[in-house]
Amino acid sequence: MARLIDVEHGGVPGVIGIFVLDAPEPALIDCGPTSSVDGLIAGLAGIGLDLSDIRHLLLTHIHPDHAGAAGELVRRHPELQVHVHDVGAPHVIDPTRLLKSAARIYGETFGPLFGSIDPVPSENVHVLGSRVLDLDVLPVPGHAYHQVAFIDADGVGYPGDAVGCLWGEGDFLYPAAAAPEINMPAWHESLDALQERKLTKLRIPHFGEISEVERHIERTRARLRSWGDLVDGGADEATFAEACWRALREEGTPRDAEVFPTLPFPSFEMSYAGVRRYYDKAREAARDGDA
Ligand SMILES: [Zn+2]
Repeated sequence: MARLIDVEHGGVPGVIGIFVLDAPEPALIDCGPTSSVDGLIAGLAGIGLDLSDIRHLLLTHIHPDHAGAAGELVRRHPELQVHVHDVGAPHVIDPTRLLKSAARIYGETFGPLFGSIDPVPSENVHVLGSRVLDLDVLPVPGHAYHQVAFIDADGVGYPGDAVGCLWGEGDFLYPAAAAPEINMPAWHESLDALQERKLTKLRIPHFGEISEVERHIERTRARLRSWGDLVDGGADEATFAEACWRALREEGTPRDAEVFPTLPFPSFEMSYAGVRRYYDKAREAARDGDA
């Protein structure tokens, strides 16, 4: 059984969710940022748990909205065991580079949004293999090189940000493309890999449980493709954002149009920057290859 805690990041419901697994040992899938630790603790209390009841923290990836609180949680509960991809592990132990990269994307808004990122002692950090607890670990790069999905025996997938987000109880599908290391072909291959697993449900941090797995993954694929075509085709930031707003109004619910502008951190401008960066780097790499 898994339970979902809404940490109400930035006071907004439906932005960051943490799944709590009971068996074989109590575990969290991701933990959210340090700024919403109080929301996480309150959520745990709401289901009759204390942080000290949790044995494992399984990280889908190390972005601050998923893993930022790991250091703070281990400080409060030193027995907590943190499981992370081998590429992510050094940055959980020493978050200096992570903080620099976050500052580049978020500037001065980073602190108020996410709080600090504190180091996790290396003795608490475990590198993920192909299984952890009773879950399969499937690499799903694209949103982040080091991202993994956890899949339980019933075929329920916890894919982190590998599939699109539905913010604030809306229905507008938003791929989290603002990250500095997105890789479009790898992302599409990860969607293929998730589809091959014939998952019964998706449980996503932004936000909740998705029963229509195929539809959700295909919507992610279509949006990624359209964003890629737009940016690769030369659209500037304003044109891109305008196209996104149009799609949101046409395909989303009234709730999307209402909630999206109030969300703490996703924005079409940031998505543009992430996608643009991928195509610029890809072009540069192709040029270097020709030279
Ligand atoms: Zn992420």
